[in-house]
Amino acid sequence: MSIHSDIYSADAVVIGAGFAGATIARELAERGNMQVALIERREHIGGNAYDMYDEHGVLIHAYGPHIYHTNSDRVHEYLTRFASFNDYQHEVLANVHGSFIPVPFNLNSIDLSFSGERAAAFKQALLGLYPHGTRIGILDLKQQDDPLLKELSDYVYENVFLFYTMKQWGQTPEEIDPAVSARVPVLLDTDNRYFQDKYQGLPVGGYAALFEAMLDHPNITVHLGVDAAEILSIQVVGAADGVGAGGAGDADAEAERAEAILVDGKPYDGLVIYTGALDELLEWRYGMLPYRTLEFVYRRYNEKHVQPVGTVNYTVSEDFTRITEYSHMTGQDIDVTTVAEEYPLAFTDPSTQTPYYPISDSANQAQYERYVLLFAEMPKFKLLGRLAEYRYYNMDQIVARALELADELLS
Ligand code: FAD
Ligand code: UDP
Repeated sequence: MSIHSDIYSADAVVIGAGFAGATIARELAERGNMQVALIERREHIGGNAYDMYDEHGVLIHAYGPHIYHTNSDRVHEYLTRFASFNDYQHEVLANVHGSFIPVPFNLNSIDLSFSGERAAAFKQALLGLYPHGTRIGILDLKQQDDPLLKELSDYVYENVFLFYTMKQWGQTPEEIDPAVSARVPVLLDTDNRYFQDKYQGLPVGGYAALFEAMLDHPNITVHLGVDAAEILSIQVVGAADGVGAGGAGDADAEAERAEAILVDGKPYDGLVIYTGALDELLEWRYGMLPYRTLEFVYRRYNEKHVQPVGTVNYTVSEDFTRITEYSHMTGQDIDVTTVAEEYPLAFTDPSTQTPYYPISDSANQAQYERYVLLFAEMPKFKLLGRLAEYRYYNMDQIVARALELADELLS
């Protein structure tokens, strides 16, 4: 079926085949018995969770390491309909001047960083104040007046957070949203795992196979290699500069609103769920939303493993933030190995770069809200996903949001 006739006969158009798009497409198709046209600009499904075999036969994650973890029974029950998960428990080591210490920085990290007596004093000071198992954000720990805790928090800040955060965000931990560094707490435990969630692992057979299963439904048609911009546009009224002029970033948001979704120039009456970047859809009419992007440099070795765990963070040296060795995670038993170094940088060119990380601050949020406001009178147009909602969401959070949106739409 041609894409145009498919859209016109569909009850819903979903743009983007990541976790947001795949989950909502499946829900509408299955629970809502709706015909769904799914449009994806890449040549594959899976969004940023997509994995593939490289030329050496190693299963790699094409857009950076993705470890599934969740405390949500609903999300886990949902995803395990489409794949089983291995029991991989993610561990991360920080390379601090050549020594490896567990991250999140925990009670074992203290033992590895200090002599026996100092380590015992630090642990006693911490456990005198907080119960065993507590997770403390580094910025909160730095507020403590106790001289011992001050010394310890300065050490952790300098050796784990400051340089890594500067590389990742181009800003210090104090300058970014505190929730970002708090994702990786100081952990008063001897548990060396990166996540303590109830469920974690990787889909057996890979993410791409998980997505194939999710989208394998008679009511869903997937169109790969198609950019939404080729098919539809947003009709904005009240603008002096007309539909989708964009670029200048100074259009008058107060006066503007989206009036219709046009497919081939004609208003489209079905449901549209958009999971891409909102500023791009509106041709940057209120300016570009800030994002960080990544460059991946792959290295191949004729060895089984070249590092002790799945990910090593470089917290005091190197230009890359971390190196991930995929076979640790996938459990693939193979005599060669592939690792990826991650180099963060500012997102400046949508034609060549991918917007990986929204940058959460109040100015950016206000800019995003101007875009959202345009759709106030368009109840059949829904924004869903890490890009469309401009929020630093993990995979499970996106699946949860998609399930909630389906509840709302199908109620
Ligand atoms: P995406 O996966 O980005 O999917 C959006 C899709 O929409 C893409 O395929 C895109 O091509 C398509 N699209 C966009 N615009 C258009 C258009 N105009 N036309 C057609 N198609 C379009 N989460 C975890 O839980 N665990 C992790 O370990 C983890 N690691 C991560 C590591 C990195 C480096 C990154 C960047 C993210 C990581 N995440 C992780 C987060 C995870 O990637 C996201 O939560 C999840 O992929 C979001 O799904 P999504 O569908 O919203 O977006
Ligand atoms: N972080 C850090 N040092 C580390 C690990 C994390 O400074 O060794 C900070 C950094 O600011 C990072 C944030 O904590 O951006 C969140 O880390 P996470 O591993 O959750 O990031 P992601 O996997 O999403 O890139």
